[in-house]
Amino acid sequence: MNKNTNNNPLVAKNQEFLAEDHKLMINNEWVTPSSGDYIDVFDPSAGSAVTRISSGNADDVDNAVNAASEAFKSWSKTTPLTRQSLLLRLADLIEENAERLSEIESIDNGKSLIIARNGDVGSSVNFMRYMAGWATKITGSTLDISAPHMPGAEFHAYVKKQPVGVVGAIVPWNFPLSMSIWKIAPALATGCTVVLKPAEQTSLSALILGELIIEAGFPAGVVNIITGYGQNAGSPLVAHPKVNKVTFTGSVETGKIVGRQAVGQMKRFTLELGGKSPIIIREDANVEASILGASMAIFFNQGQTCTAGSRLYVHKSIFDGVVAGVAEFANNINVQPGYDAACGMGPLVSKEQSKRVCDFIASGIEEGAEVMAGGAKLDRDGYFVAPTVLKSTQDMRIVQEEIFGPVVCAMPFDDDEEVLELANETRYGLAASVWTQNLRSAHDLAAKIQAGTVWVNCHNVFDPNLPFGGVKQSGIGRELGKASIDGYLEDKTVLMKLN
Ligand code: NAD
Repeated sequence: MNKNTNNNPLVAKNQEFLAEDHKLMINNEWVTPSSGDYIDVFDPSAGSAVTRISSGNADDVDNAVNAASEAFKSWSKTTPLTRQSLLLRLADLIEENAERLSEIESIDNGKSLIIARNGDVGSSVNFMRYMAGWATKITGSTLDISAPHMPGAEFHAYVKKQPVGVVGAIVPWNFPLSMSIWKIAPALATGCTVVLKPAEQTSLSALILGELIIEAGFPAGVVNIITGYGQNAGSPLVAHPKVNKVTFTGSVETGKIVGRQAVGQMKRFTLELGGKSPIIIREDANVEASILGASMAIFFNQGQTCTAGSRLYVHKSIFDGVVAGVAEFANNINVQPGYDAACGMGPLVSKEQSKRVCDFIASGIEEGAEVMAGGAKLDRDGYFVAPTVLKSTQDMRIVQEEIFGPVVCAMPFDDDEEVLELANETRYGLAASVWTQNLRSAHDLAAKIQAGTVWVNCHNVFDPNLPFGGVKQSGIGRELGKASIDGYLEDKTVLMKLN
């Protein structure tokens, strides 16, 4: 196996890390997969294998869930301050290991080191510190009795919040570390225990996170990590009878399978799924800022962002200028391996994803889309696709389906009424952005766009305190903020007759 194929400078610890086959983390121990099988991990910048992860199966999942179930008995009884302190300690360790984690994320996923440092590792530290604070602020409520029950009887009633139990967390490959932490941090803050199943393409940062979880001092079984394929490891995790809640981030198609499976046992579940987020640029927008904003909204993280601004609606009076500006931005992006200091945009995560994106581009061109920038795979090793801008029409498949790559479909509109109809004409409802200097229009459009998040004069800004999630087929439930904490708690109603 060819390690470190592009001769990128590796921090010493990562050299050692990539040189070994990776095990599963169960009960704070590293164990070999019961199948004895491993999965090659590819560096998308070179298209060659750099290390191997364990291919976990149902037996491994069973061991991990049993460990989490046993650990729940004591972890759920620890004081909130203990949980808060451990989460803060873990956040510190992630921060101390930021360079190592960023580098691994960049090698594993292809993203630029800058995004890995800030978008993945930096935001994960902030999020974990924020969630640590919630551990000590979980409150139930006391409620008055509202109806007459027995003549003369007096009651005292309260609602207590209790952790839901063992959480099965399944994450995708686009923000491997932060998606894992979006799930682990609130689950641990509430007193739940976790079995994490990272994406098979990008499990490495989760495995380093596992090392740090042990180092931080979390008791055995509180977090367990099973790497492997969705069918072999993800599906048995969702199906396991001792898993009380499933929290899933990934595609709509897999989300529906996971949801159906969870409902079969009436497990709690949260689904964070795909998107086809519109960007609406009104005629009164700051054009320069809108061009930059629209470009970043799609090309950030190679367009592999669930909230990528992939449908660009521009008022017809400024359409040509804005599209030319976004195309110029695309043509000037320095497409390089993620760990190259000059990288403006890295490769896509895998050969399959690069083919999928190129097939979408070809289908758009076949349906009549006009290529304003890019339009093809780059002719070199690795999974590089040129940043692409396509003048499109609403009925095209590229406008209706999530591409999950650096491809934006631009379309003109006449007025707010028309653009609202176009923006909402999709099965997705994750996010949107509106670019305008008219406050009234901003509020009006924000209220009427069918999406879980609407940004105004910005895009892809996530805050730990603001709930995030989708409407329509983009998902069920919310992550971030208090909503995230609530997702790992059950209400327990207690009613006492006092006399
Ligand atoms: P995917 O659905 O193929 O896989 C996601 C995870 O599910 C992986 O870990 C995979 O191994 C696992 N999996 C696959 N089949 C499974 C099964 N039958 N049972 C249980 N687990 C299974 O998605 P992907 O290609 O890894 O990620 C891209 C998708 O994720 C895009 O659609 C993107 O929009 C979405 N996404 C959404 C958000 C959000 O917060 N809404 C964030 C990031 C990505």
